[in-house]
Amino acid sequence: MSNVDKTIGLPMAMLAELTHRCPLQCPYCSNPLELEKADSELNTEQWIDVMRQARDMGILQIHFSGGEPALRKDLEDLVKAATDLNLYSNLITSGVNLDEERTQNLAERGLAHVQISIQDSDEQQSNKIGGHRNGHQLKLAAAKAVRKVGLPLTINAPVHRLNIDHLESIIDLAVELDAARLEVAHVQYYGWAYHNRAALMPKRSQLEWATKVVEKAREDLHGVLVIDYVVPDYYAKKPKACMGGWARQFLNVTPSGKVLPCHAAESITDLEFDRVTEKSLLEIWEHSEAFEKYRGVDWMPEICRNCERREIDWGGCRCQAFAITGDAANMDPACEFSEHHEYLVSLAEIDSAKEEILFDYRRMGAFDKSNVKVAGHSS
Ligand code: SF4
Ligand code: SF4
Repeated sequence: MSNVDKTIGLPMAMLAELTHRCPLQCPYCSNPLELEKADSELNTEQWIDVMRQARDMGILQIHFSGGEPALRKDLEDLVKAATDLNLYSNLITSGVNLDEERTQNLAERGLAHVQISIQDSDEQQSNKIGGHRNGHQLKLAAAKAVRKVGLPLTINAPVHRLNIDHLESIIDLAVELDAARLEVAHVQYYGWAYHNRAALMPKRSQLEWATKVVEKAREDLHGVLVIDYVVPDYYAKKPKACMGGWARQFLNVTPSGKVLPCHAAESITDLEFDRVTEKSLLEIWEHSEAFEKYRGVDWMPEICRNCERREIDWGGCRCQAFAITGDAANMDPACEFSEHHEYLVSLAEIDSAKEEILFDYRRMGAFDKSNVKVAGHSS
């Protein structure tokens, strides 16, 4: 039974970022620009204690993520602990470190589901985007191992200008790998993706084509493959209900134990986040300044407070508001009523028209706080 103050909402799921280490270097990675080092990671006992606290709060699902969670040698112990706590466990992985023996071991310890990301259907392009010379083959082998040991499989395919034209064959690949679900997720532009936006932003015509491909595939593959589709905010008129609303349903614990309301929240550089090494998860959920700041509707600008969608999209994405306007308390510029909306659309049009397809790989130590830039558009 949950002991959470129900007036502020019950967290349903926790994303446990076990490590920021990763064998890949995707230029759109949702990890922060300033990655946490291995020697700062919570140890096994600390993670098990965090999961126990999460269970006591009523959380039902734990998503083991990273970086690459399979780089943690104690992943099997953590999955077993989650199972003993009656938590549904999902492994979000690149697949690069997941051979058949390991997959079998994880299944025996109660792992319920695996989500593997793919960078492209084309091997060469996949390895180029991920920055790994053999990543694609290792991923395919991992996906086959997941199905062989009888675990359900989701394929996650982030799409952007470098791979969007291969969407049909990405869908074919998900079917071939016997996935039950495919997430076609247009890259969301904060953190690494914001930094590499000029290389990643698709043209509007590519987005429209991709949307038609998904609609047709949903019909053709009814009963075979469920396809989730996340469109890019820059071409939207209404924002998404990001994370179901800030600090309403979800929490994220970073490798060193910082607790965030969403995985990208550290891109809001004027927020401070509490740590599970200093406060309980419950205290952070209910009272942390970062959680309280944008929870509910009281913080909203007047247009949102008077809008019928205020408890549907909760004002959209705080990280996007900060990245584009320099103030996370502004409306998400994806909203057509935002004074920054036209600017957002113009960024997409300018970037997608560029010939340049150069990008920086996501690398440990590539950035520190002193050179993280914020656009800070003022209209
Ligand atoms: S997006 Fe790529 S680099 Fe980032 S954690 Fe996932 S696999 Fe690793
Ligand atoms: S005005 Fe605010 S609440 Fe209404 S649709 Fe736009 S972002 Fe959402």
